[in-house]
Amino acid sequence: MGEQAAETLNPFEIAKKQVDRVGKRLGLEPDLLEVLKAPKRELTVNFPVKMDDGSLRVFTGYRVQFEDALGPFKGGIRYHPQVNLDEVRALAAWMTWKCSVMGLPYGGSKGGVICDPKKMSRGELERLTRRYAQAISVIIGPTKDIPAPDVYTDSQTMAWIMDTISMNAGYSVPAVVTGKPLVIGGSRGREEATSRGLMYATRECTKRLKMTLKGATVAVQGYGNVGYHAARLLAAEQGCKIVAASDSQGGVYSPKGLDPLQLYAYKQKKGTVVGFPGTSKITNEGILELDVDILCPSALENVITSKNAKNVQAKIVAEGANGPTTPEADDILFKRGIWVIPDILANGGGVTVSYFEWVQNIGGYFWSEEEVRDRLEKNMTHAFANVWDTAQREKVDLRQAAYMVAISRVAEAYRVRGIYP
Ligand code: NAD
Repeated sequence: MGEQAAETLNPFEIAKKQVDRVGKRLGLEPDLLEVLKAPKRELTVNFPVKMDDGSLRVFTGYRVQFEDALGPFKGGIRYHPQVNLDEVRALAAWMTWKCSVMGLPYGGSKGGVICDPKKMSRGELERLTRRYAQAISVIIGPTKDIPAPDVYTDSQTMAWIMDTISMNAGYSVPAVVTGKPLVIGGSRGREEATSRGLMYATRECTKRLKMTLKGATVAVQGYGNVGYHAARLLAAEQGCKIVAASDSQGGVYSPKGLDPLQLYAYKQKKGTVVGFPGTSKITNEGILELDVDILCPSALENVITSKNAKNVQAKIVAEGANGPTTPEADDILFKRGIWVIPDILANGGGVTVSYFEWVQNIGGYFWSEEEVRDRLEKNMTHAFANVWDTAQREKVDLRQAAYMVAISRVAEAYRVRGIYP
């Protein structure tokens, strides 16, 4: 706990700290280390949206392009009242390392708009999305930067962005975003891809720990796209028992196990998992400290910190969310023998299938669901093995190992490309 005195919860400070730690361990040139901590391009946009009551409201959005040594920028778009530039910078940095560790020919970026989508009508969300897309259109495109869904955005959001960019171009540009609906060029299997990848990563981890997934207990924080599909797939395909789940309003717990599909249907109807029959209430803090085999934080950043890391009882923490664990908490969990499958690996299945979608759009040839799953499984298994072997060899935790793999690859691209001019 040596570095613990000043635990920062600023996600960008955390993202830089993670690079520093690993850069030094890799013996990276100090100048190059500085380059790898600075976002390449940052765009802030303020734009008006007509609200349903006839008023105009000005919204602020961002697009941060962190690093593109390996290929075009790639990263999701988040709608949330707490979005801020440092959060978007961190998420863009994490996308860079994620694409690299997954072996994809992409750099990393991220976007966000400060808004509360729960308090907006569908029409207002459509107009906001189209104006934001127009505002960032100067820097995105199929060979430049390709957005995708993130918190409180979905395939419909992507369809509006694709349509806006296409209307301005005068022809359809499907490859400008991924995570689209199937009918306009989406990929089979994209919706569940992040969670399917998480399931494969968890499976690979348990294999090496000689743990069995059948009957293993699971708690999921954040029952959205990532959390719901993770619960569903871990139960249906690996025989896990989902004992707890939560969302922004709180959580539910049942030691006998929950049916993920029924819980999802309940949330669709009531807007929250809270109150699901046959369960007791649990808080979002409490869910992290349950005595389970596998914990999947799948909501937002900084939920496992130096304050509560000592109370985590899970054997494996599979990070569905980006940035749920602080570096200080990482050290505590590592010392306690808890395995953290880091975000850039655990949730890398989403961007992997986004890459497949982009390849299908550019090639104009679409794959079957089996083909998507097979390729995802191969990619995930390979990336996991690479990170695991690095961790064993270097005697570090899985996050540092993942960063070692990711940063080495980007640094190598930098060295061969050279510094312009
Ligand atoms: P989503 O909007 O579909 O779901 C988010 C869920 O989190 C919702 O159920 C919401 O109620 C819940 N939530 C919000 N605030 C919460 C809080 N304070 N405590 C507990 N739950 C809360 O979003 P998503 O796409 O599932 O993204 C979740 C996480 O996964 C994010 O960190 C995101 O960056 C990451 N991620 C998403 C993808 C993807 O493909 N969608 C890929 C990689 C990583």
